[in-house]
Amino acid sequence: MTNSAPENIQFCSHCGAPLITRQVGDKPRRACPECGFVHFTDPKVGVGVLLVQDGKILLIQRRAEPERGKWSIPAGYLDAGEDPRVTAVRETAEETGLEVVIERLVDVFHNPPGQGASIFLLFEAGLVGGEAQAGDDAAAVGFFSPDDLPEIAFASTREAIKLLLQDGSSL
Ligand SMILES: [Zn+2]
Repeated sequence: MTNSAPENIQFCSHCGAPLITRQVGDKPRRACPECGFVHFTDPKVGVGVLLVQDGKILLIQRRAEPERGKWSIPAGYLDAGEDPRVTAVRETAEETGLEVVIERLVDVFHNPPGQGASIFLLFEAGLVGGEAQAGDDAAAVGFFSPDDLPEIAFASTREAIKLLLQDGSSL
């Protein structure tokens, strides 16, 4: 269970007054005694894209820590107000140079605190254009056969690929 009232959140983001901890609904929260603002510890949301072309999975090699040098699916964090499908298409374009359309939601993953996104939405996408070229935080881009995968970063990605292989709809 994560802390619903983190003490390091000290000041109101609306009016700047010092925050106190008080019970809001079923949990203690950091709250502002001046303007009534309540600080909610919102989860960080990430999206990832599974793209399978001719039986091969699109992967990028990570340029940055964590898991630098290992391979992952194109992925990124949601900005506030952004449609997760739009994020997925944008991140794929930035990292791989490929233009995709989202076809379906594969699954929703919940990760323990402190490991990147706490909520991860996995989409399956189809290729509509572009040329594979590594960009942004990707060092390389490639399509890999399921029986000849490079070292995969992140437990959630390994899980996602396993799901896809079991499902078998695209392979
Ligand atoms: Zn306030």
